Amino acid sequence: MAKKQFKTESKKLLDMMINSIYTHKEIFLRELISNASDAIDKLYFRSLTDGSVSLNRGDYEIRLVPDKAARTLIVRDNGCGMTKEELESNLGTIAKSGSFDFKKEGAVGGEEVDIIGQFGVGFYSAFMVSEKITVISRAYGAEEAWKWESSGVDGYTIEPAGENELEHNGTLVKLALRPDTDDEKYSEFLEEYRLRALVSKYSDYVRYPIRMMVKKSRRREDSPEDKPEYEDYLEDETLNRMTPIWKKPRTEVKDEEYAAFYEEQFRDFEAPLKVIRQKTEGVSDYTALLFIPASAPYNYYSRDYEKGLRLYSSGVLIMDKCAELLPDYFSFVRGLVDSADLSLNISREMLQHDRQLKHIAKALETKIGDELKAMLENERDKYKTFYKAFGTQLKYGLYADYGMHKAALQDLVMFESSASDEPTTLGEYVSRMKEGQKKIFYAAGESREQASLLPRVEAVVGKGFEVLYLLEDVDEFALMMLHEYGGHEFSNVMTDELDLDSDEEKESLKLENEKSKDLFDFMKEAIGGEVSAVRFTNTLSGHPVCISSEGAVSTNMEKTLGRMPGAENGIKAEKILEINRDHPIAGRLKTLFIEDKEKLKDYSRILCASARLISGLSIENPSEVADLITGLMLN
Ligand code: ADP
Repeated sequence: MAKKQFKTESKKLLDMMINSIYTHKEIFLRELISNASDAIDKLYFRSLTDGSVSLNRGDYEIRLVPDKAARTLIVRDNGCGMTKEELESNLGTIAKSGSFDFKKEGAVGGEEVDIIGQFGVGFYSAFMVSEKITVISRAYGAEEAWKWESSGVDGYTIEPAGENELEHNGTLVKLALRPDTDDEKYSEFLEEYRLRALVSKYSDYVRYPIRMMVKKSRRREDSPEDKPEYEDYLEDETLNRMTPIWKKPRTEVKDEEYAAFYEEQFRDFEAPLKVIRQKTEGVSDYTALLFIPASAPYNYYSRDYEKGLRLYSSGVLIMDKCAELLPDYFSFVRGLVDSADLSLNISREMLQHDRQLKHIAKALETKIGDELKAMLENERDKYKTFYKAFGTQLKYGLYADYGMHKAALQDLVMFESSASDEPTTLGEYVSRMKEGQKKIFYAAGESREQASLLPRVEAVVGKGFEVLYLLEDVDEFALMMLHEYGGHEFSNVMTDELDLDSDEEKESLKLENEKSKDLFDFMKEAIGGEVSAVRFTNTLSGHPVCISSEGAVSTNMEKTLGRMPGAENGIKAEKILEINRDHPIAGRLKTLFIEDKEKLKDYSRILCASARLISGLSIENPSEVADLITGLMLN
């Protein structure tokens, strides 16, 4: 029969599996069992909504059949099965392409471990222990079963299966184990004790029974009591406990058990940062077991990421990702809810309007918020790890829905600040405010360093005030929505009147600006439309110039908005060129206004360009600016 070729990506992965030096090859069993369990889930879900699929829950099983003589291990399920086309597309191409794309060329050494450990690699992991794999599958309702077979990279075959090879719907995966070597005893995977141990380690909570015929021993009935003789017999045994871990009292489950459950069920390679268990009786009766992951999944900040909790009705899974149970800003939470009040065959549409569900969602939201707050107060380092992974999402939450979630989130967000290298909460900032300080100061920048060196920031910090550094695009938008914290408005030190001066000082600056009106008009004209005004200021520490802005859009927001798709003709900040009144350049400009207007034009444009650079804005015509500067040098 003609061999078919694997798709290129699959080939790479396959090759990696076959030559794997991965030390936990045993995980292949977890992967196959998990596929079997998924396949039963699929059929089971179908039976909830499709009247033509009628199966009894009790009929489902996953079966292991080790055969020492043949040196094969079978993993069999009676789930949805696969058609010929599905066999081809599911096993001929790598399904988890997302995971592979992510680590494209990582087929060696440490990276390999990364892929296997981090994503699991599904079906192909079986090639780590097998020299040949045969898959026989019959889709539910189909007449015929199909046989897929492969010994690795040189391709696979598909043909109709023999009549007795699989009599029911579902899938049978037969592994022909590799010969033992000095380092690897593959034959161990045929030993009962080993299979038991693996199931209990990785698959104990699988919702369907994982069964195997096991050898038992009993006294032969016809043997005398005082001289017993024993005989072996086979008994069908369920290897996994199936008791949902969330049904057990909190005190009876060790942290490691929760972690193992989480890693296995939610396919993470790290223990969760926090386990949250909530059990209520009364108005609504449910148990929730939630996990806060230690790092963001690779697709977390993308459209691919799907939020949601598993939803069970009295221990029976009814939905894999119930999005209604989590607000977007807590979308990183994984876990499950088991409620006795929900009907088994509730549809997705009905769920959206279910009052019970809304009630649970609300309670979970509060609980998650409280747990995070407690972590922030009592386990700061842990919170920092959490915040590194998901802080951005919380800030999006502040901004979303017109700031509706202020109460839930304002005490959970943190920002960099001039006070120390540690990020600070808004509450902590307020507690450190100077006497008489009314506003919370902030400045946006690309990095801590850049923000701290902004002339106005230096000036404000120099006067003893703390300035928050907003380093992420979303930060400024979030604060804008928040509007105030604890009665203190936010003030962008780059935009706003800082009001740090005495009345006298203000008056003198105002006078000076009025006196120089003609100079400023001339400069503005020379710069040509880029700034809406030029003026003197006393807020720049020792620096000569800076760009500030007026109105609702700051220069930093202009940058952010400009990066968004469809922002070509972008929203612009109304920019002001500020000149340090106390810097020698101020006097020089005044002199030039009287003595050499041509030169003043050049100066104006160079100053404006420098100020733009300081603010992190680009210059539209850099070569022209360079010409101007060299022109000055040669003068
Ligand atoms: P994943 O399980 O992550 O999708 P796999 O490589 O393990 O990746 O499996 C690829 C696909 O093959 C699965 O998505 C599923 O559609 C199908 N599949 C694997 N095992 C079974 C099975 N026992 N029954 C039905 N379909 C299966």
